[in-house]
Amino acid sequence: MASTSAFVSIAPVLAKQPLGRASSMLRTSVFTPTRAASFSLHAPAPASPLSWAPQRGAARHGARRWVTTMAAADANGSSKYDYDLFVIGAGSGGVRASRIAAGHGARVAVAELAALGGTCVNVGCVPKKLFSYGSHYAHDFADAAKYGWSVPEVPTVDWPTLIANKNAEILRLNGIYGRMLENAGVELKVGAATLTGPHSVEVNGVAHTAETILVAVGGEPFVPTFPGSEHVITSNEAFFLESLPRRVLIAGGGYIAVEFACIFHGYGSQVTQLYRGDLFLRGFDRDVRTHLAGEMTDRGIDVRFNTDVQSVEKNADGSFTTTLKDGSTVETDVVMFATGRKPMTSKLGLEAAGVKTGKSGEILVDDFSQTNVPSIYAVGDVTDRVALTPVAIAEGHCFADTLYNNTPRSPNYEYIPSAVFSQPAIGTCGLSEEQAVEKFGADDVDVFKSAFRPLKHTLTQRPGERELMKLVVRRSTDVVVGVHVVQSAAGELIQLAGVALKAGATKKLFDSTIGVHPTSAEELVTLRQSERAKAEAAAAAEAEKATA
Ligand SMILES: Cc1cc2nc3c(=O)[nH]c(=O)nc-3n(C[C@H](O)[C@H](O)[C@H](O)COP(=O)(O)OP(=O)(O)OC[C@H]3O[C@@H](n4cnc5c(N)ncnc54)[C@H](O)[C@@H]3O)c2cc1C
Repeated sequence: MASTSAFVSIAPVLAKQPLGRASSMLRTSVFTPTRAASFSLHAPAPASPLSWAPQRGAARHGARRWVTTMAAADANGSSKYDYDLFVIGAGSGGVRASRIAAGHGARVAVAELAALGGTCVNVGCVPKKLFSYGSHYAHDFADAAKYGWSVPEVPTVDWPTLIANKNAEILRLNGIYGRMLENAGVELKVGAATLTGPHSVEVNGVAHTAETILVAVGGEPFVPTFPGSEHVITSNEAFFLESLPRRVLIAGGGYIAVEFACIFHGYGSQVTQLYRGDLFLRGFDRDVRTHLAGEMTDRGIDVRFNTDVQSVEKNADGSFTTTLKDGSTVETDVVMFATGRKPMTSKLGLEAAGVKTGKSGEILVDDFSQTNVPSIYAVGDVTDRVALTPVAIAEGHCFADTLYNNTPRSPNYEYIPSAVFSQPAIGTCGLSEEQAVEKFGADDVDVFKSAFRPLKHTLTQRPGERELMKLVVRRSTDVVVGVHVVQSAAGELIQLAGVALKAGATKKLFDSTIGVHPTSAEELVTLRQSERAKAEAAAAAEAEKATA
């Protein structure tokens, strides 16, 4: 399928926006092929539609708190601090903690240096999923023809329209976040905050004090330094590319690398994905990793393992030549590194406040997200526990309930369902087969699995659409300890599998559940024979053949 690279005017889209939005969109839609000037998102500037006057303390009265603020109050009952809570970072965790704490009656301020909503809203889950939706159309067009539709032979892509529409949607979400904070009575400080002590922070040269400080600054992409590393982009910039690259090289083996490989491929780019290990998606179930690698290859993505980038050189025509460690070269229009993320703690002033960090700069916290400095807490990606939006939100919510609603609680990290929006997608919850074997021993683990072409693709016969359903069961208890799915709607499917696993569902319970027909998901309740039983049956048949 042809890829049209860019210029298409974004004027029609901008014309529908109020002036503030339009200028903000213009700012954000400029792509630079280096990382230096990129991640300046639509931070709410004073005159923008996102700016809002702080309305403090709407629901502040009647607070009961786990950690007493009474000690901090003077004889008249007023606090000696400017705020009860100062939150650094208005992303997933910070926004949830701010508004719940304010709802419980705390006087809260939150500082944000970029855009409301943080990584997830601006350069993470949301734009990624929109890109992913968009990239499926190429296949949908092809499939439609097999179902009798007349479709143009070569559908074309208007990339700037995608970027402009995506930007407009994200601006809308920024506004919603602003209004949520405003309605909760949270005061917004626009700028980078630094810690100056256990109870003090500075934003734009202005000092603020708070009884409690919550650090929720998230993480940022990590790119190793090597010759030419200044030429590569990360996921931050990938969301603002001016044109659809004809050829893309993606280095990395995590879920972000895999998702972008599928997104660019779907949109028609020629994609090479490199990973230095023997198989991408380390930590996921090995069958899932192998299955997806096969499907991506079948779709036409050049997936290469056990290889790494040596250097990147910019060519006269603006393209890049990447030299790999084996001496071979790959020429592309964009080189994207998705080689991990690191906590954004280097310029935070953690030392000034005496906050302890780990090897990668992550803030060390206890079960209640409290650091070694009693007045300072941290939630979300900056703590490097489980780097997912719903987890950051849960940590922020638990923190606020614990401190400001007298309800001490911490998140339960067991059986967190999650998805990779690859093509086909992955849904996973619980232990991989390898983790289960390590935990319980091979004799105590049974595996049930099935790989198949789904009904939809019996007509299309399109390569790269085979699915996988897998259950990992602890034999001694019959409890299902892992569900792993590779399927186009895996993200939707795995949510409820998470409920079943949290409820301690047994294999017997799965088996007694009536399937939904005809679906792929019904496989999960019809997996009758374990891999062990299949192997035993095969061995018995072999033995019978040998004695016949
Ligand atoms: C490409 C990509 C795709 C992803 N897809 C998914 C997905 O599909 N599902 C999922 O669950 N998770 C996904 N994630 C992960 C998810 O985005 C994060 O886990 C989540 O955003 C973490 O929330 P947080 O509150 O810890 O930090 P963030 O959301 O990153 O928020 C931190 C905020 O702090 C601000 N900040 C930093 N330093 C300062 C400072 N000094 N002063 C003031 N403000 C500061 C930042 O600008 C940012 O707005 C994805 C991430 C990426 C990069």
